[in-house]
Amino acid sequence: SHVPNLSSTRTTTMLSSLRLAARSRGFATHSTVQGFNGAVGNTPLIYLKGLSEKTGAHIYGKAEFQNPGGSVKDRAALGLVQDAEEQGLIKPGGTIVEGTAGNTGIGLAHVCRAKGYKCVIYMPNTQSQEKIDLLRMLGADVRPVPAVAFENPLNYNHQAREFAESIENAIWTNQFDNTANAKAHYLTTGPEIWEQTQGRVDGFICATGTGGTLAGVGKYLKEKSDGRAQIWLADPPGSVLTSYVTSGGKLIERSGSSITEGIGQGRITDNLATFINDISGAFTVPDEKSIATLYELLDTEGLYLGASTALNVVAAVELAQKLGRGSRVVTILCDGAYRYQSRLFSKKWLESKGLEDAIPSHLKKYAVL
Ligand code: PMP
Repeated sequence: SHVPNLSSTRTTTMLSSLRLAARSRGFATHSTVQGFNGAVGNTPLIYLKGLSEKTGAHIYGKAEFQNPGGSVKDRAALGLVQDAEEQGLIKPGGTIVEGTAGNTGIGLAHVCRAKGYKCVIYMPNTQSQEKIDLLRMLGADVRPVPAVAFENPLNYNHQAREFAESIENAIWTNQFDNTANAKAHYLTTGPEIWEQTQGRVDGFICATGTGGTLAGVGKYLKEKSDGRAQIWLADPPGSVLTSYVTSGGKLIERSGSSITEGIGQGRITDNLATFINDISGAFTVPDEKSIATLYELLDTEGLYLGASTALNVVAAVELAQKLGRGSRVVTILCDGAYRYQSRLFSKKWLESKGLEDAIPSHLKKYAVL
């Protein structure tokens, strides 16, 4: 849609020289966009200098925490709603219903405000208070339900579907099995990474919740590189995906648990299924390593990020070591730590999870809560 140009020729010239000056100092410069939805995507690709120097490879993180709703899931949320609109499944004033551990709900709540829909979110009652509060502030009707497995009819996904079916002009966006999710990443995140690396990407790796990011980005990068780019999956303990991928689809083995939120999976979602046969490999990252890297990212890069991001970065380093010196590896910086700080930066909370010693001793000063 048309974005009004508010500047006269003279101020445009002035602005561009200021923008140029900003850019030459390494600042990002952005153009005018339309509303919340226009601000989704086009995130920077951050070169992780410290880790790159350590490994002799080039490690990049896609700054998805810079989306206007604060996470990688803004893209999926917008993609799911746009797809429903294009298919005529929802009319103005309708209700969007989703089951979500948080970030998709936050993205949807923003998109619903920007587009005038009602928003109803079912979520497991184990999620952080920050995320629940934020959803309510964004006008969503939040319904915490017992944290039970997918097989159980009380699982948040089933409750979301049933509620959407029970009212008029409502849709269940179904982020896990609606492939409009992966499509949003195929159309935006993938092409952005390809352009930002000028097509020089040897490996891409990230953890999955719905699998939308991995499948969408993976498919795009595989196609554009004629199969050369390797796409790997990173997993938290307690997820079945590593066993599935490394056994060639024979094993679905669950062991352990993780403090990471929003990632790990007990089944092969339809989004992941679209790409799982093209995944080169997978590995599980223990929480101890994720926590250490979380604090290191803050200390050496100045980046204050969530636990799934830390896990992704640990995995990116391992993949870079596998692919060798000089290789270029990209991962996703999913969201910021703000949503989890009462946990991830609390000594007491980490202690309760047996993770206090995972923080490198010279970085313990950051655990101030
Ligand atoms: N990190 C966080 C913090 C998330 O909320 C999610 C989404 N559940 C992911 C990673 C994984 O993204 P995807 O659903 O695209 O696999």
